[in-house]
Amino acid sequence: MKFYKDHYDVIIVGGGLSGLSSALMLADKGKDVLVLERHNLPGGLATSFVRGGVEIEATLHEMMSIGDPGKRLKVGQFFDDMGVNIDWLEVPEAYHASLPGLEVTLHPGYERFAKEVDAAVPGSYQKVYDLLMLCDRVCNSMNELGIHPMSKPAMLLKHTDFVKTAGYSAQEVIDTFDLPQKAIDLMSPYWIYVGAPLSTLPFTIYAFLMADYIGSGSKVPKKLSHEMSMKMFARAEEMGVQIELKQPVEKILVKDGKAYGVRTKRGDEIHGDYVICSAYPNKVYTSMIEPAGEVPAGAIKAVNGRKIGVTAFTVFLLLDKTAEELGIKDYNVFKGDTMDTDAIFENYKTLGPYNYITTICLNLANPTCTPEGTCILSITALPRVDGWLKVGADEVDKVKHDIARSMVEEMSKYYGVNLLDHALEVIIETPMTVAHYTGMWNGCVYGYMHDMKDHVVARLQTADAEHFIKHLEFGSAHQLTGNGMGPQVTNGRKAAKYVLDSMAEEAK
Ligand SMILES: Cc1cc2nc3c(=O)[nH]c(=O)nc-3n(C[C@H](O)[C@H](O)[C@H](O)COP(=O)(O)OP(=O)(O)OC[C@H]3O[C@@H](n4cnc5c(N)ncnc54)[C@H](O)[C@@H]3O)c2cc1C
Repeated sequence: MKFYKDHYDVIIVGGGLSGLSSALMLADKGKDVLVLERHNLPGGLATSFVRGGVEIEATLHEMMSIGDPGKRLKVGQFFDDMGVNIDWLEVPEAYHASLPGLEVTLHPGYERFAKEVDAAVPGSYQKVYDLLMLCDRVCNSMNELGIHPMSKPAMLLKHTDFVKTAGYSAQEVIDTFDLPQKAIDLMSPYWIYVGAPLSTLPFTIYAFLMADYIGSGSKVPKKLSHEMSMKMFARAEEMGVQIELKQPVEKILVKDGKAYGVRTKRGDEIHGDYVICSAYPNKVYTSMIEPAGEVPAGAIKAVNGRKIGVTAFTVFLLLDKTAEELGIKDYNVFKGDTMDTDAIFENYKTLGPYNYITTICLNLANPTCTPEGTCILSITALPRVDGWLKVGADEVDKVKHDIARSMVEEMSKYYGVNLLDHALEVIIETPMTVAHYTGMWNGCVYGYMHDMKDHVVARLQTADAEHFIKHLEFGSAHQLTGNGMGPQVTNGRKAAKYVLDSMAEEAK
């Protein structure tokens, strides 16, 4: 029996959230789809691992764009529409900010959030609320324009705030509100979820982040992020998608400027009309196109012109007491020596100690995620690759243990308890771990950095010009909407839409 069909409509390289979303959407439109995943599990970074008999979430802190039943946001709606039924749990608060002179817990809901900031910084309510409302309007425009692109004059009339703020950084727009610095600090912690300082982060992205997380709150799947991966995988197979694990793709086959298939590491040559690829364009254009002479010069230039985003460093502690017993009260603590995001971004170039970390206690949203009487704490920093590229193989162990120790000591001081005294398991996830398990370029989990020259609005404008090879489309964190699990669903859908539109156009 032959393992593969002679031909597929679409071959998808990578079964992470983006690849699986493309597969679901294409199968829903009746296309014949093959997904090839290099790992022995689907989901990419949406995964978990087992230590001491306990399944531990590997990455997810919180999912954006889900919403409640009946009031679903776009990612939640896509899961519902595709018949992927996730058991969502509410994250109890937005975050606790532990910053110089500030210990403040903030909750979702614009009014509640503004009141809580006002309680810490009296007199700031109205300006905070107005800024949140601006974020809300810009976010609504982004959601609408993403689905119904419109002419420039129509946009000018209908989406005035979006147009007005599109050319400015988050810092520039926030400064126009003349807020006390402490209030700005309390509204800045989420910057880490996009990994770009406020001075270069487009306001559009900041607005989306704030409106989505503060406006609607966030969720986590009861059976960890792997629940999304496994249920998407199962549903895609049910819809007729062929998914093969442990099948790394080494080459994308191209002839006369058009992709026509792939070659796996095992040596199978598989043909299809279109290829959607999750591997970074850096990797694709430098080593995956066969023959190499088919790589257009413009492709390498475009890739080199982009800045690689941040990577991730996490220490997981499985602890021998409950969160309550250990005095852990908040789901999500953003802790920093400073909230100057430029200074933090500089510090992230080093090998630590990192001056801004985020800590999740998943049990506070998902009480039964670890055995009774225990809890799990994950402490994360998002360093840049600069420092890590200089670490030799013989130094990795020392470097990672030094960084991990400093992060655990910092949080031990914060909770007033020596966390290592209670650790049943300590697991360290480094940029190398990420690169090893997902093949992400330099272990970069966030794709290319959003800055004023390269962000969702600019990327929309250059998208057509960047189809260097016909019938080859990219999905994943390096694409239009950037990093995050919710945005990967959107990136995967965008890639599938491109393929469907292109098929329809060529059939005319
Ligand atoms: C510590 C940490 C915390 C995070 N927290 C959050 C959070 O709270 N909320 C959030 O939304 N996001 C979070 N993220 C980010 C989020 O996990 C990623 O942005 C997102 O999962 C990336 O999905 P992807 O589909 O782009 O890539 P991946 O998940 O890497 O999927 C790509 C897939 O393609 C496969 N692949 C690559 N090359 C090949 C090849 N040649 N052949 C076959 N298969 C291939 C890989 O094995 C992988 O399965 C976090 C990330 C980390 C590391």
